[in-house]
Amino acid sequence: QLDSLAGFSALALERMQLNREVENVRVVAETESLRSALLSSLSHDLRTPLASIIGSTTSLLAYGRSYSEEVQRDLLKTVLEEAERLNRFVGNLLQMTKLEAGATVPKPQWADLDDLVGTTLERMESRLEKVRVEVDIAPMMPLFQVDFVLMEHVLMNLIDNAVKYSPVGSTITIRGRHAANWIVLEVQDEGIGIPQEHCKRIFDKFFRVYARDRVVAGTGLGLAICKGIVEGHGGTIEAESPGANQGSIFRVRLPVRTPGQSDPLEDPEAAA
Ligand code: ADP
Repeated sequence: QLDSLAGFSALALERMQLNREVENVRVVAETESLRSALLSSLSHDLRTPLASIIGSTTSLLAYGRSYSEEVQRDLLKTVLEEAERLNRFVGNLLQMTKLEAGATVPKPQWADLDDLVGTTLERMESRLEKVRVEVDIAPMMPLFQVDFVLMEHVLMNLIDNAVKYSPVGSTITIRGRHAANWIVLEVQDEGIGIPQEHCKRIFDKFFRVYARDRVVAGTGLGLAICKGIVEGHGGTIEAESPGANQGSIFRVRLPVRTPGQSDPLEDPEAAA
């Protein structure tokens, strides 16, 4: 009986080892295909704006003098917009690397939602020329604790997506309210919407709903970064969409106070 037990465990062990090897091969294959998908997506995302910048500057250098002031301005605007796009893209890559290395530790400071939204919108001015932006922040919002730079990054990604996946001339609404000990921030658009079954997966790294047809350029990193940063603040992020072409809402909930921090009213030095 002992012999048959030993034979059985040897067989089980062998099978486990084989399973592990098969799993390793699968992971390597998946990593390889992910890597080549990422590389092709990265080169596309770098090349598209670069081609635009090269095209506009070449044209300006060659024929600039014969162009009207308006045309010259339009070409320069294209250069600026595309350079900003590259900047956001590189920013996302750097942020992802930091998050993965565990090097993104939020440095919370007392902040005001009006200020956060206002500063972000100012920085995105040229990106927002083709849409209408409405801001609806409830009065008497409390100060809350966030890493301002990281949260700006989150808001920028959400607004950039709202523009990217919406038609020209549509409205993007940014709302803010206070519920119990939470600050709720929403970015709503009137764009292509998100199929219900993907509302959770879009926060996974590299996941894109329309990746295959490449309707819009992108890497699928932005929302994964948003999630990493928001969760790093003890908050949550979610998406909802009533259906195709009926827009989307991205909702971020952040605790007013990061655990262990004091209230600025009780401790005025903390607010400084
Ligand atoms: P990227 O935009 O580079 O693909 P993100 O991580 O920012 O990467 O978004 C992941 C996917 O979620 C997008 O590819 C898109 O399919 C979907 N998505 C994000 N924001 C929106 C939005 N506002 N409207 C519709 N779909 C969106």
